[in-house]
Amino acid sequence: MPELPEVETIKNDLQKSLPGLQITDIDVIDPRILKACHQPDLTVALRGKTIQAVSRRAKMIVMAFKEGGFLCAHMKMTGQLIYGKRLDQKETKLIFKLSNRMFLNYNDQRLFGRLFYLSTLDKDAYLSTLGPEPLQNGFTARWLAEAVKRHRIPIKTLLLNQRFIAGIGNIYASEILFDAKINPQKKARRLSKVEVDSLALSVRRVLSEAIKYRGTSMRNYRDPNGQKGRFIERLKVYNREHQQCPVCRNSIRRIVQSGRSTFFCQHCQR
Ligand SMILES: [Zn+2]
Repeated sequence: MPELPEVETIKNDLQKSLPGLQITDIDVIDPRILKACHQPDLTVALRGKTIQAVSRRAKMIVMAFKEGGFLCAHMKMTGQLIYGKRLDQKETKLIFKLSNRMFLNYNDQRLFGRLFYLSTLDKDAYLSTLGPEPLQNGFTARWLAEAVKRHRIPIKTLLLNQRFIAGIGNIYASEILFDAKINPQKKARRLSKVEVDSLALSVRRVLSEAIKYRGTSMRNYRDPNGQKGRFIERLKVYNREHQQCPVCRNSIRRIVQSGRSTFFCQHCQR
């Protein structure tokens, strides 16, 4: 699933291309994509609207329109937003026709993604529960020190909770904890001040570095040009079970926490 760095890359690219363009028409290739959103009127709400800005909240793309209203796109497992020529791939489910004769294609092989229209953002039940954005000013070591105290669960599991902090998923949770030298099984409220400080730093460092390399393409992630992210070559522990830790050369371990794989170095992360 695209996490913060991947969705940030998509947002940055779309923000360069889309503002000022009008959605002239919408081709629904596979109606199941709208059924999943419970919004059959999505196409009615969007037709004729002019895109004002593209932003990101957590792992979601949020498109604002000049006439008011927002389109939110949560790509989940296999969703992709590809800008340019019209795609006629099997996984292309919906196509926005734009006023510059270009297209914004929504691909979703497994149909887990969600596209939905909101007239206002502040009343949305999901958006209003999200935790702070880790790359914005509200996220500080001081905030983190207070926030972890309220949680008895392992720090790895807590980092995946979007209500705690927005945008981190399974790949970056493992990478961040390796960077911070924190054992993923450690209970959140047991973190020392030194650990909290280094965690806050690692959250920003790993996510920023991943954005620089345009994200990680494990399987399906593609940017709006259809290109893969290059951060996969820079992953230090994720998906590297039995391989050498890049710091101490001991073997990287995989464990399962709350049903998700965690990768870490037992020697470096105590
Ligand atoms: Zn190590």
